[in-house]
Amino acid sequence: MICPVCKHDMLVVEYHDIELDYCSSCKGVWFDSGELELLLKSDGLEETKVFLDGILNSAEAVSSEKKRDCPICGHKMKKTAIGEQPAVLIDMCRDEHGLWFDGGEVTELMRHLAGTHPPKHGSREQVIRFLEEVFAAPERTGDGS
Ligand SMILES: [Zn+2]
Ligand SMILES: [Zn+2]
Repeated sequence: MICPVCKHDMLVVEYHDIELDYCSSCKGVWFDSGELELLLKSDGLEETKVFLDGILNSAEAVSSEKKRDCPICGHKMKKTAIGEQPAVLIDMCRDEHGLWFDGGEVTELMRHLAGTHPPKHGSREQVIRFLEEVFAAPERTGDGS
């Protein structure tokens, strides 16, 4: 899959049954629709569906950030803000192909959730650690062919 921000080829990263696409160049992450739900479930969040519906149905956020194209259908994605102060601004395909997080935004989302939806089985630390590892991955050189 091609990164919607910088057009690099993205890497596929696996965590349990979840596959996400990660851009090692701009550190952005793409989740297919069902995969974010799986991630949140493995994070111990029980109201996953409610939470995701909340994201999917929220109003478009006003932002000066450039609109991005969905890496699957190529249509412009919608900006959606999660939480407040600071809100995490993500991009979402209107046809529900998936969601795009800029570098670090998934971790911010997890931290936001830790405040609003305390974990029930203590698996959140694992998920955050995993995400931090993924996002902290050093830039690789020589793979930009
Ligand atoms: Zn990128
Ligand atoms: Zn799409």
